[in-house]
Amino acid sequence: LLFRVVAMAQNPETGPIYKDPTRPINMRIRNLMSQMTLEEKISQMAQLERLATTPEMMRDLSIGSLLSGGGSFPRERATPEEWVDMVNSFQNGSLSSRLGIPMLYGIDAVHGHNNVYKATIFPHNIGLGATRDPELVKRIGAATALEARATGIPYVFAPCVAVCRNPKWGRCYESYSEDPNVVKHMTEIIRGLQGELPPNSRKGVPYVNGKDKVAACAKHFVGDGGTNNGINENNTIIDWHGLLSIHMPGYYHSIIKGVSTIMVSYSSWNGKKMHANRNLITNFLKGTLRFRGFVISDWHGVDKIVYPQHANYSDSLLKAVNAGIDMVMVPYNHTEFSEILISHVKNNLIPMSRINDAVRRILRVKFAMGLFENPMADYSYVHHLGSQAHRDLARMAVRKSLVLLKNGDNGDGPLLPLPKKTSRILVAGTHANNLGLQCGGWTISWQGLNTNNLTAGSTILNGITSAVDPSTEIVYSENPDPDFVKQNNFSYAIVVVGEPTYAETAGDNAELTIPESGQTTIKNVCGNAKCVVVLVSGRPLVVEPYLPQMDALVAAWLPGSEGQGVADALFGDYGFTGKLPRTWFKTVDQLPMVVGDDKYDPLFPFGFGLETQPN
Ligand code: BGC
Repeated sequence: LLFRVVAMAQNPETGPIYKDPTRPINMRIRNLMSQMTLEEKISQMAQLERLATTPEMMRDLSIGSLLSGGGSFPRERATPEEWVDMVNSFQNGSLSSRLGIPMLYGIDAVHGHNNVYKATIFPHNIGLGATRDPELVKRIGAATALEARATGIPYVFAPCVAVCRNPKWGRCYESYSEDPNVVKHMTEIIRGLQGELPPNSRKGVPYVNGKDKVAACAKHFVGDGGTNNGINENNTIIDWHGLLSIHMPGYYHSIIKGVSTIMVSYSSWNGKKMHANRNLITNFLKGTLRFRGFVISDWHGVDKIVYPQHANYSDSLLKAVNAGIDMVMVPYNHTEFSEILISHVKNNLIPMSRINDAVRRILRVKFAMGLFENPMADYSYVHHLGSQAHRDLARMAVRKSLVLLKNGDNGDGPLLPLPKKTSRILVAGTHANNLGLQCGGWTISWQGLNTNNLTAGSTILNGITSAVDPSTEIVYSENPDPDFVKQNNFSYAIVVVGEPTYAETAGDNAELTIPESGQTTIKNVCGNAKCVVVLVSGRPLVVEPYLPQMDALVAAWLPGSEGQGVADALFGDYGFTGKLPRTWFKTVDQLPMVVGDDKYDPLFPFGFGLETQPN
């Protein structure tokens, strides 16, 4: 009772207690919640798409959160200042709501601040998994936080801690590894994104340490990488022990590092939709694992509890909120969302204690990250966007992510590293001079773009050109015919081929072959010159049939905007050190095949990677 009296009190000097930063967070939460109506509480539970929202709606409805889904901005190539102004205009709306609760703006910054023109694009997670370097990944987290803050954004939907068991899955590149041990170490990125936890922090309590840090989101809880046949959003069939030992360590380790939020997976576990799984979300995640941040749904994840999507939204919302989802990513329509939840509460279908728990968690994250004290963004971080320091870091990450799979004999020793001074080098293939293909999905647009000038950076061809001695002639031809190759007497050729861009379900692929244009280039070039093949792909592809023709083979994954990192290793400024984060299969019939399986017969095993010494 005493607590309540204190909580209700108002200090005439500082205004309401919840606005007083010297008060303990729990007291501020209690004080604020004691003043909120049911409608206001429910509004905090909504995350709306920014494109369908106005600052006036933020003010009138006191909406809890906004997002730019898949990279939406009204104007292509907006500057960081324009982002800051845009975010601030919505925040202004929120601050002029009745209680002035700041909104939380979130974005998919999954390999750097990838939606934003001129941001540094880091390798996708599969490449970072190959580095086996948690310290590096932590630094990438810190850089990503600064770039997000450069645009006024304090919340990112990363890291993806999926353990992709089958490379047929379209999101395999978002997964650090097929091995939970690699994934769990890579949660170090959270320390980079959010900053260090203060000493003696209570386990599971979210914390964002400073204005240059952002709230993180571990996703997608749980088992997203284990679905049937690698089909996106499908069913993960596995026993409790398997779920715990394979798919859970990433969450456990994220919670230890103070992760602010966790996103629920579209997938099902043994036939039950995760978005309706009270046992896993409430009992296990919030209970056993003591997670104290908030649980967010995936985009329309609540609607997708039933098929067709949104068919019985009232029932889906009931199930999802009672399962323990605290924030709903994009209700179709806020009025509908609010009315449904209010009626569920009034009809005692959702206990008021559940709503209070959700709002308490959301407010805790907002208070813990200092959003009430520093709701408005300014231009003081804009110079970090795509800074040289971040590009250097990305370039280092690219070098360390490369996995050398074959290094044939050149007559007098291994082919790689290549000498910088030689007569004439052919650079060929669809992916040699294409920044869009090099970055993959989740870059500027959701599905990625097959275009070279989508943002700032260097292509692999640019990198090669600047790495070699000025006397070395570089000839670039995307798909040269065999006679051209024969007649030109190249010292060797570098063939860069790989996958098109894709994201999520569009990337599901049961064949995993190198696209035909790439196969043709390999055939036309590799028969007629010594050739190094660089594969740019989000996962292992079928390469066994071409291996005899390739003199050397490098897996470059999706390296991002700093293609120079690839040339650094090819020409020996740095050695190859990367190790396979996944098993490289021979044929797709073997899948799923992961390290530790009884019938393990890979082309290259998990952890494989040849090394070279720098020149
Ligand atoms: C994806 C999430 C992403 C969300 C917001 C969903 O389709 O599954 O990973 O964070 O969209 O863009």
